[in-house]
Amino acid sequence: MDARSGAHWVTWADTHARNSRRIEDLEASFRRNGEAFLAVLKEAGAQVGVSATRRSPKRAYLFHWPWKIAHGKCHPADAAPMAGIGIRWDHGDVAKSRAGAAELARAFGLAMPPRSIHAPALTSNHIAGKAVDMSIRWSGTMELARKGGAPVAVSWSPNVNANLPLHEVGASYGVLKLRSDAPHWSFNGR
Ligand SMILES: [Zn+2]
Repeated sequence: MDARSGAHWVTWADTHARNSRRIEDLEASFRRNGEAFLAVLKEAGAQVGVSATRRSPKRAYLFHWPWKIAHGKCHPADAAPMAGIGIRWDHGDVAKSRAGAAELARAFGLAMPPRSIHAPALTSNHIAGKAVDMSIRWSGTMELARKGGAPVAVSWSPNVNANLPLHEVGASYGVLKLRSDAPHWSFNGR
């Protein structure tokens, strides 16, 4: 395979650097907490759709560097190598390197400026298996059992980031809301 960066690396990543949306792939203690929170949500009649759990560090690497190179945030030769990935960011020519990086970033469907002004992170609670992305839907008001406490009345709101009673119940199970990222919950709220 051509080692130079380009869209063909998506095929490689889809075999060797896959993300998971399985709860079973989470780190053991966060998995138990997540399962307990999901169980009370489902018991109360909510529909939960998990879209991401553990993220591959290799995939995070393959998201981070092409974004930076494509947008001129670093020189192609400055991209750190990663064990187990033989990608070549530096094509020996800055314009070609940036074109290869941009092609890969587009092929992954990464959010580009102005939609996103930050490179995809190299570190994330998803990589450690301590974060989950999910949508939670219900109608009206549900009674949610807080861990070791009284039930909480949680009313539907389309803005999950502002639904503090829901966050409170999640926190009782050790599943904390990141209030700037709608689907994201984690062991420490980041
Ligand atoms: Zn997330």
